[in-house]
Amino acid sequence: MAAARLHQKLAWREDIEAHGGNVDVFDAIHKVDLPLLLRPLKGLLGAYLSEPAPGVLVTTLRPMSVQRFTAAHELGHFSMHHRPSLDDEGILRRMPLAGLPDVVRDGSHEATGRPPEIQEVEADAFAVEFMMPRWLVHWHATRQGWSSVGFRPPATVYQLALRLGASYEATCWTLVRHGLITQSTARQLLSAEPKEIKAGLLTPYRPSDYRSDVWLLTERDAGTRIDGSRKDLFVLRLEEHSGGGYLWDFDRLKASGFGIVRDEVESSDAEGIGGPVMRRVTAVTAEPYRGRLAFDERRPWEPDEPIASIEVHVDLTGPEEEGLSRVERRSLLQAA
Ligand SMILES: [Zn+2]
Repeated sequence: MAAARLHQKLAWREDIEAHGGNVDVFDAIHKVDLPLLLRPLKGLLGAYLSEPAPGVLVTTLRPMSVQRFTAAHELGHFSMHHRPSLDDEGILRRMPLAGLPDVVRDGSHEATGRPPEIQEVEADAFAVEFMMPRWLVHWHATRQGWSSVGFRPPATVYQLALRLGASYEATCWTLVRHGLITQSTARQLLSAEPKEIKAGLLTPYRPSDYRSDVWLLTERDAGTRIDGSRKDLFVLRLEEHSGGGYLWDFDRLKASGFGIVRDEVESSDAEGIGGPVMRRVTAVTAEPYRGRLAFDERRPWEPDEPIASIEVHVDLTGPEEEGLSRVERRSLLQAA
């Protein structure tokens, strides 16, 4: 309820439903005037402090999905007026638990009042509801056409996780929480390694390692927002009407600093000669990039309007670095 109340107060659901993207946790923290600093915390993911004034610390040593979940957890402590909390990996491990921890359930803390574990369970529940509310999961599922296939293929759930800005594991458990998959499906999904999922998307291209995320972009992502990290890879899978002479033109993409490491046409036996084919292009960028990704389908010899254009707004400057959050820095620069 606290998470839903804050969403209402921030009044950004309409904007998210118009442009896609995720719930910007760091922007929320900025908007409620909760001071936040990023630091290379050792042994901790984050902390909520309340004396002398409320404030939050989040680690720089973890990927963006963990930074976002930690920040949402600390925002939960703040929103629910909790006591100070030093948060380690436990906030991630607690995800699968549907109810209260055993120590609470067996009543052993009844005599001593509210056990500290309760506020940790509450802050985790807040983080899940705030980052991955039902309506946002549904928005992405509808836009991508995933509702019909369900959330079974690991590759689908991984793409959902990227769009929600959450880890693959947190996304699996959130789907259980929203009643969209069963616990046993979640366990099956979790037996798939993110590295295998990424390799499956990229094959036959092999990056030097599989730490970076791999976004599969299609026509369905046109006009949406992508919030990623600096070394993310992109697989563009686009229907191409090459029989009519139309080809996807990636000049604008290359002008934005992206390099194309694979470019192929998927073989299809079902279509007769001259029918549309699937063009599959793998793009990477060496520099943190924030702006538009745009590409057009056109006849190379004609200066006419393209028959299709896709534009995606991307922010590939994550994860958060030491100091202030990106959203706070940008707002200070604008004010200056
Ligand atoms: Zn906590």
